[in-house]
Amino acid sequence: MEGRSVAGAARLKVWIDQDLCTGDGLCTDHAPEVFRILEDGIAYCLEGTKVFNDPGGSAEMAVVPRASEGSVIASAAECPGECIFIEIEEDAEAPALAP
Ligand code: SF4
Repeated sequence: MEGRSVAGAARLKVWIDQDLCTGDGLCTDHAPEVFRILEDGIAYCLEGTKVFNDPGGSAEMAVVPRASEGSVIASAAECPGECIFIEIEEDAEAPALAP
């Protein structure tokens, strides 16, 4: 089931700069549904079953499930490579909030 919040229209997106990743796996400990270490020993983002396995920087952004937002933010805050980047995207399809 897609978690969708009426009160919070913005969606988090995340990407990793693989050039800076140390491969320690802290992010996969926090949010294994969003991050995965691949055969090259560094971390990549997941979006459902899709793996963003091309180290293309911000071109490889995954939408973060609502339930994973806290653990993704914690991963970015604690990432020793400082290479997890979070962007906020406004959802144009979200219903307008009542005044
Ligand atoms: S926490 Fe950061 S440095 Fe560690 S594996 Fe994840 S992206 Fe790489």
